[in-house]
Amino acid sequence: MGKLKKEKMKEFSEKNAKKAKKVMGEFKTFALKGNILDLAIGMIIGTAFTKIVNSLVNEVIMPALSLITGRIDFTNLFISLDGKTYETLDAAKAAGVATVNYGTFISSVIDFLLVAIVIFIFMRYIFKKRKEEPAPEAAPTTKKCPYCISEIPVEATRCAHCTSILEETK
Ligand SMILES: [Zn+2]
Repeated sequence: MGKLKKEKMKEFSEKNAKKAKKVMGEFKTFALKGNILDLAIGMIIGTAFTKIVNSLVNEVIMPALSLITGRIDFTNLFISLDGKTYETLDAAKAAGVATVNYGTFISSVIDFLLVAIVIFIFMRYIFKKRKEEPAPEAAPTTKKCPYCISEIPVEATRCAHCTSILEETK
């Protein structure tokens, strides 16, 4: 009885090992041959690109913009709901007052717009570059006979269908 149980256990574990191997094989196909790899690369590049855009916005564009707007710190634009006025948002927060931080919202919107503009300019540049190198278009090999509207070779001087003599047209 004990031996039989052992054999059954062995059979069971072998079956499971085979199943596991099959699943692993399927996963390998999914991870390597599917679009997962492309997606992963895209995500990594996307993350790096986000860093560049954020840096451009925070280190370059925002300081330049604050020169124009006279260094308005949007984060200190808020409404304190207790009716009193506080110098800064931090002061209001320290006092434990609920605030409507519309300034923070405005700066988020501005951040988004700047990022969108930067990406738009970037994409426009890329599409323009792409357009500048168009694939060489295949020269047409046929033309239409002006008399019978049949497709005939470009170099034909007489139509094969209606036998009309074709004038040289450019
Ligand atoms: Zn013709």
